[in-house]
Amino acid sequence: MTEAARVDVVRKAVEITGIVQGVGFRPFVYRLANECNLVGFVANTPAGVSIEVQGDAESMERFLERLPKEIPPLAKLTAIASRDAELKSDPAFRIVSSRTDAPAKALVSPDVAVCDDCLREMMNARDRRFRYPFINCTNCGPRFTIVRDIPYDRARTSMSSFKMCGACQAEYDDPANRRFHAQPNACWDCGPQLQLWSADGSRKDILEPLREAARVIEQGGVLAVKGLGGFHLACNAKDESAVNRLRQRKERVEKPFAVMVRRIEDVERFCNLIEPEKRQLLSYARPIVLLPRKFGSGIANSVAPHNRFLGVFLPYTPLHHLLFLSGRFDVLVMTSANVSEEPIVIDNQEAVQRLRGIADVFLVHDREIVRRCDDSVVRVFSGQVLQLRRSRGFVPVPVAVERESKTILAVGGELKNTICVVRGSEAFLSQHVGDLENLESYKFFGEAVEHLQRILEVQPKIVAYDLHPDYFSTKWALGLQDVHLVGVQHHHAHIASCMAENHLDGKVIGIALDGTGYGTDGAIWGGEVLLADYSCFERAAHLEYLPLPGGAAAIREPWRMTVSYLAKHYGKELSGLNLRFVRRLDPRRLQIVLQMIDREIHSPRTSSCGRLFDAVAALVGVRSTVNYEAQAAIELEMAGYESTDEASYPFDLLPDGSGWQIGTRSLFDALLRDVAGSFAVKDISRRFHRGLATLFADLSEKIRERSKLNRICLSGGCFQNSLLFGMLLGALRERSFEVHFHTEVPPGDGGISLGQALVAAHRS
Ligand SMILES: [Zn+2]
Ligand SMILES: [Zn+2]
Ligand SMILES: [Zn+2]
Repeated sequence: MTEAARVDVVRKAVEITGIVQGVGFRPFVYRLANECNLVGFVANTPAGVSIEVQGDAESMERFLERLPKEIPPLAKLTAIASRDAELKSDPAFRIVSSRTDAPAKALVSPDVAVCDDCLREMMNARDRRFRYPFINCTNCGPRFTIVRDIPYDRARTSMSSFKMCGACQAEYDDPANRRFHAQPNACWDCGPQLQLWSADGSRKDILEPLREAARVIEQGGVLAVKGLGGFHLACNAKDESAVNRLRQRKERVEKPFAVMVRRIEDVERFCNLIEPEKRQLLSYARPIVLLPRKFGSGIANSVAPHNRFLGVFLPYTPLHHLLFLSGRFDVLVMTSANVSEEPIVIDNQEAVQRLRGIADVFLVHDREIVRRCDDSVVRVFSGQVLQLRRSRGFVPVPVAVERESKTILAVGGELKNTICVVRGSEAFLSQHVGDLENLESYKFFGEAVEHLQRILEVQPKIVAYDLHPDYFSTKWALGLQDVHLVGVQHHHAHIASCMAENHLDGKVIGIALDGTGYGTDGAIWGGEVLLADYSCFERAAHLEYLPLPGGAAAIREPWRMTVSYLAKHYGKELSGLNLRFVRRLDPRRLQIVLQMIDREIHSPRTSSCGRLFDAVAALVGVRSTVNYEAQAAIELEMAGYESTDEASYPFDLLPDGSGWQIGTRSLFDALLRDVAGSFAVKDISRRFHRGLATLFADLSEKIRERSKLNRICLSGGCFQNSLLFGMLLGALRERSFEVHFHTEVPPGDGGISLGQALVAAHRS
């Protein structure tokens, strides 16, 4: 080599952090370095991956350019730093396995849908994993749900009880193999196996459990099948009586079921589908995607009654693919196996006990699910993906936050609970823990806290909680010793959460609309406009207070809220109102509710937007009682899509201190007029939605005049309502506001733990 050529040789040291272990990252670097004719090495480090590469400058440039662009599908880079290093004399490029391989800060990957390479092998009769239900590689398979502890290696997962056979071990040890260090690597000879159990838990002695399970579904039965993050209950989604049977047994009256569709090509028969939705369906996280359904497509009505959307997902485990292959069905109801709102079942024996009387047979296997993790739910809204339930496939990928913070634990709310740990500049939200109202959820909550702390190796000394004294999560936090506790108001947490994921700092106008959140005055808030930054907030406007007669009972029975509004505006003599709503009321129950309001018995005051939706829904006859959370509001929303009406209902803005109270007298006058005029429900719904959008846009303008703030954050469960969300977003943008909303975490209470953590970070 001449002197001139030598000067061109460079060596770089590259440090990478993020999800780079257990995802095929080192084999990828190995291949890339070889393609670029570079020598050197790659190694795991406690923080991620460390690379040294050496070669001519041009090859180096190519390598560094391709590296971040071509990373394996599961890898996620949070930082990449390269610097010049001293030249060395490596004979080739190597993957270094050292004892310091042990990662500490490296992140655990989420669970990943089976990849195309594995599917091809699974369908190949000559492959040694032909039809093996647990095939996986470094690009796919279970991760988060099988990890007991870190560092992530087989011994610390539920695969530890399976010893790899010679063939699997050889793959595992070969840097050039797709299964190099694939921790759940397995095959027919050495890995997990399927079993079919009858309803009483006894093992059925049959050769082909899958075929038998498919036969049960074909005959209208209900199958409990063990998945990645828990059991599902499955039945044929085209079989009306099977779906009804499942509803009865599960005591789930009307809440929509999600369906798993055999292939992407089949989805278009059931739903309208646009490109970004397709990408979500096919993404490795394989979430449930809410899609506008085509009616008359053969899906049983009882799958999602009174709903124009259908939650759809594609098979994501090899087992799901094989189930479709074995049976004569192309769409299955696939719903979390639990009783009402309890956590999803994960253990075989537990399944038999808790699903007694629900499932006809159990398709189980012997790979333990260490962490339960429900399916995630997303929707695409004007080209953007919005999270409704962020769980399997996304957890534990962190949400990046703007600045470094102390380590913090935030325990979330009561319903749709998640918890959040902030470490450095990353926020880790837990999987969906659910509604903390029963013993099972209580246990799960504790486990989720413990597991997240363990895999992140933290013991937070700062703990944030909701102000509601009755929330389980609040009581849990207040029982902790030796920690600094920070109580965070519910809607402040909503807005802070939206600010955090949008990397905002300073003050914003926050519009927080939801069902229930404990206010600093002890009332139940939920129709709030805040001026907020991370550390504090002031209430700029809110819906007027009304009694919530019966507390939680009023949430289950929306008619009570209608009575509350009518009594406020038109006095206690409701019978004088010429309204079908009033004529249909049981006079005795009406009297009881009126007395509760009058004497202020068990009738907390509320400014909830969700309850206003309820009141309107019951008034117009959409429904007076609900079978699941927010059902009345959802059905009112559904009606609104059908209308093209352009009008909008008025609200009253009443000055209140330095802000405003939002009065509803004009709204109800207009509603009563339209109801009496026999207006169509769909048009009334549309006018109500547009009225709310116009109200909050007008209000924001007034607040902008006073505060000089132009940034708006939208948060709260009401923004799951796309009709309201779309109208308000449009109205605000028309008025040239800079509007931010949630995409990474849910707008509902599943997202508040992030906000709590950020508020605590700024207050301590
Ligand atoms: Zn694979
Ligand atoms: Zn094997
Ligand atoms: Zn909320």
